[in-house]
Amino acid sequence: MYRPSTLFSLAVAACVTVSAAAAQESPPPHTATASATAPAIAASQPRVGFSIIKTGKVSVLERLLVPDGSLSKKIDTNFSAFLIKHDQDYLLFDTGLGKQIEVQYAHDMPYWQRPFFKFDKPVLPARAQLDAAGFAPVQQVIISHSHWDHAGGALDFPEARLMASADEMRTIAEPHAGAGGTWASQVANPSVHWQPLALQAVPYKGYTQSLDLYHDGSVVLVAMPGHTAGSLGMFVTVDSGVCYFFIGDVAWKAVAAQQGAPKFWAASLIVDRDRAQTQASVEQVRHVLHDYPGMVVVPAHDAAVQDGLGYFPNWVR
Ligand SMILES: [Zn+2]
Repeated sequence: MYRPSTLFSLAVAACVTVSAAAAQESPPPHTATASATAPAIAASQPRVGFSIIKTGKVSVLERLLVPDGSLSKKIDTNFSAFLIKHDQDYLLFDTGLGKQIEVQYAHDMPYWQRPFFKFDKPVLPARAQLDAAGFAPVQQVIISHSHWDHAGGALDFPEARLMASADEMRTIAEPHAGAGGTWASQVANPSVHWQPLALQAVPYKGYTQSLDLYHDGSVVLVAMPGHTAGSLGMFVTVDSGVCYFFIGDVAWKAVAAQQGAPKFWAASLIVDRDRAQTQASVEQVRHVLHDYPGMVVVPAHDAAVQDGLGYFPNWVR
């Protein structure tokens, strides 16, 4: 298991931006394959945009997701990966559920948590959807955090660098089971090439640390600790100028982020590593949304928001 070091973290952070710059001069990855669908996809892609890859969903009690939600009505929650495009470069933010999720779930989800944390079948892993669409293997995967429903596809991208914040790498180095755990069955495998990301002391939209992946302000990572020690958020400003804020699991619904509302307390007890710190991160999102009224917040699981944006191979531009 990789142990992070500051020097290497800095090197990897630099490597990300260098490879991104280099990739702009390379042909689009998907043109390397002879898929009949690839030209149509290429023609419809933005310069900077994203596509939501819905890998699965589950219906849960509304109260779990929405402040003052119903204790009898169920609503959908998604397990999604987000394919970000910047010029000729692609990266995946989160993986959703992967090809081996059933085995992993059987291994690492305790029986008592299974009634509350589950997924519907079928699962449509991001790797399978990308392959079917003729995409060459994604070379860069960044996870918002290392929980089972975000790192679930890590094993499906053996060609890629799997990147998490340096703080999250310490959790990944010591995996543990459970809904609020980082699963050994997903992250502790030699085929997963983990590399830490070092955020820099560069303020961005009120955050004290950030990492501008392409040096043009279009794709920027920020630290959002609490749900896990090293949770990351990502701002993506697409061709239209609209900025989308991917907040991972800081809040499960956009309305909760807009209101600064915490998760349902029982769920929060299980999944939020530090509830006070999580709430501080929620409050910070609320302030950002207040300060930037045109911004669109995209929680990792918010099916209503994601339904409105459409799914892969549709692009938000
Ligand atoms: Zn999650």
